[in-house]
Amino acid sequence: MKAKLLSRQTLLVTLLALTLAACYTNPFTHRRELMLFTPQEEANLGLSAFNEVKQSTPISTDSNQNSMVTRVGQRISSVVNLPYAQWEFVAFQDQTPNAFCLPGGKVGVFTGILPITLDDNGLATVVAHEVAHAVARHGGERMSHQLLVELGGMSLAVALQKKPQKTQELAQLAYGIGTTVGHTLPHSRKTELEADYMGLLFMAKAGYDPREAVNFWKRFKVWGDQQGTRMPEFLSTHPLNSKRIKELEKHMPEAMQLFSKQG
Ligand SMILES: [Zn+2]
Repeated sequence: MKAKLLSRQTLLVTLLALTLAACYTNPFTHRRELMLFTPQEEANLGLSAFNEVKQSTPISTDSNQNSMVTRVGQRISSVVNLPYAQWEFVAFQDQTPNAFCLPGGKVGVFTGILPITLDDNGLATVVAHEVAHAVARHGGERMSHQLLVELGGMSLAVALQKKPQKTQELAQLAYGIGTTVGHTLPHSRKTELEADYMGLLFMAKAGYDPREAVNFWKRFKVWGDQQGTRMPEFLSTHPLNSKRIKELEKHMPEAMQLFSKQG
């Protein structure tokens, strides 16, 4: 009985130690995030998820769209530090307004978002926001929670070996691309605001006018309202509220200071 109690205590201590060790501190907001795997493992996972999207979604044949996505993506990526990134920017032919940045620097923009982003500043808002999710390791954080809940805290390497199908599905769900599972998890309000803040700084640093971020989200809200009950994916994973605009405006002086130092 005593031995059993001891072992339970040992287990608790081990779990606690594991949780404390398995943390990532966001360098911009200093928030501690649960992280059960390394940036390299995360980058590998991002790469295989990206290959899946490439297999299921056609790439745009419009050279203007492709060069716009590459031009904006390269400028945003040049001001961030994303470990193990092998940057790639792809315009996917899909009328759903959506975009993502996977760990490993794999950025996808669905052509359906381009009528709402309108110009380079608008697209920079979206790309910077998605790149911010990747830099903040939000996908990795969600993936860690999923591993903990659904696979009992298995390490990524073990999970991939024992339950490869399930692990890939969890990754797609966590990274918001949901191509296999058909749905995605909404970002939490906390991680959305974190990505907005970091994205605002990134776009300003890259020389894009940060005030255009507010205009983009306003246009996006108008567009969303016009859709009525049909809830598009990007909108369901990026809930819009007045809090988002208010917070962007709160951080605007800091972003404008960075922007004024460019060009
Ligand atoms: Zn987001």
